[in-house]
Amino acid sequence: MRAVPRPLLAGNWKMHFTVPEGLRHALRLREDLEPYAAVIDLVVLPPAVMLWEVANALRGSPVAVGAQNAGWADEGPFTGEISPRMLAGWCEYLLIGHSERRQLFRETDEELNRKLGAAFRHDLKVILAVGETLEEYEAGRTAEVITRQVNAALYGVDPAGASVLSVAYEPVWAIGTGKAATPDYANRTMGLIRELLGKHFGERAQEMRILYGGSVTPANARSLMSEPEIDGALVGGASLKAPDFTQIAQHTAEVALSRQR
Ligand code: PEP
Repeated sequence: MRAVPRPLLAGNWKMHFTVPEGLRHALRLREDLEPYAAVIDLVVLPPAVMLWEVANALRGSPVAVGAQNAGWADEGPFTGEISPRMLAGWCEYLLIGHSERRQLFRETDEELNRKLGAAFRHDLKVILAVGETLEEYEAGRTAEVITRQVNAALYGVDPAGASVLSVAYEPVWAIGTGKAATPDYANRTMGLIRELLGKHFGERAQEMRILYGGSVTPANARSLMSEPEIDGALVGGASLKAPDFTQIAQHTAEVALSRQR
């Protein structure tokens, strides 16, 4: 049995909330999530425009902040982009490779590899999202797609990165659809991801966190989190509602506590 890491629960706010709304939401979460922070790690990923304000509002609390995306260069002529260097020192996490970035903004595996390198250079904790589309799933190509995405992102990456890298397995067909993957299917695919991480990071892969994402709700969180390969969740829609995100945190913490016994 592997040494199970502390679970990580991440809330991806995507392009939701005005700055005042985001601040109110963050302050509510700061209070509501407090009871679970002894057992799980918590992070919210607000839109870039409110990242600094939310980071200040959460300073000193157990809820960390992360960016939803950043480029690979430190600075330069990249209109509209933010850089890992701008986040360094006050923003703990960075999500890269979300399927919306890959599909709507045409981000490639090669770009994500450069982003990962840049994030590590600036000591950000990275959540790398991978996942197959519905078409790929139906064609039985999940393993091939996941293998390509993970290997391409990790190509040439410093093995020391194992301690600050999490992978989020998010089947694209499960994101925002209300149709989460079955716990068993998610667990099997995440087992493959761990194998791939093992080729790159060796034994340390056993302690790396692999999160599940895709229509996680208070109703399904407990069964998903109970799977042996699932070390937390990346939550979109349900992270926008404080009571739902808090309940998911509660279920995640309860499962983690039961594993410790
Ligand atoms: C996501 O955006 O990463 C996500 C998993 O969304 P949802 O929880 O709404 O499916």
